[in-house]
Amino acid sequence: MAYTIDKSFALASKEGASQKASNKYLILHSTANLGASAKNNASYEKRTWTTAYVHFIAGDGIVYQVGTPGYVAWGAGPKVNGLSPVQIEMEESADVAKQRRIYNTYIELARDYAKKYGIPLTLDTTGNGVKTHNWVSQNLGGTDHSDPYGALKRIGIDKTQLAKDIANGAGSSVATKPATTTSSKPAVSKPAATPSTGIKWIAQTGVFTITDSDGIKLRSGSASVKSPLLAILKKGNTVKYNAYGYAGGYVWIRQPRSNGYGYLPTGNASGNKRTSYWGAFK
Ligand SMILES: [Zn+2]
Repeated sequence: MAYTIDKSFALASKEGASQKASNKYLILHSTANLGASAKNNASYEKRTWTTAYVHFIAGDGIVYQVGTPGYVAWGAGPKVNGLSPVQIEMEESADVAKQRRIYNTYIELARDYAKKYGIPLTLDTTGNGVKTHNWVSQNLGGTDHSDPYGALKRIGIDKTQLAKDIANGAGSSVATKPATTTSSKPAVSKPAATPSTGIKWIAQTGVFTITDSDGIKLRSGSASVKSPLLAILKKGNTVKYNAYGYAGGYVWIRQPRSNGYGYLPTGNASGNKRTSYWGAFK
């Protein structure tokens, strides 16, 4: 699943609000315009932005940008517009299969932009997070719309399902996706009762200080990037170790912990030869 963003109807710099929004909410709308394409809605908002507009209108695999993300848009009333760097409308179609595809685009876009602005993937709860226009009407006021629930009902999506999809992605089941991490590098893991097998540990004690600005993932169970994630260690963090070894294209160190070991890759290796350093040894 992917979408493209079409900026044909994006507001020019002299159009729309010029203030930046604070990154508190991402607002979910639907167009309340059954049968009108995302493109037509975007074209309309481009012409009538002085009345109302949002940042994105999600269609079937395509998204039209109107307002500039990060800046205020006029879509959900005076109580929240200044707190919402992204507001998204969902195209409404009477074709159920198409509406489901549009919904998938809508969810994917919402998740991408919530992450971009550091907005939690929670739905209609208190505090920062993703909010429906309906939630704004009921909890903050200044507006009386109830979208997007009416449109979602046509494809059997209720509030519970919407919350799950915002949290995990459309069509996904809870907790089956890998955790989002800040780095593609392996990290230290949770200690296991038994040390990992399949790697030849060479005894050596010392302290490793991470110098890579992306940080490194500490793993539990075994020296593998597929092992459970224990923590993401940041630049400057230190790890005491009692052995090192080569596995999976990395040089690993083994950190004694109260109930086993943590495993941290410290750089790339080609076979049993180190080829890079992500930190310094002492
Ligand atoms: Zn709305």
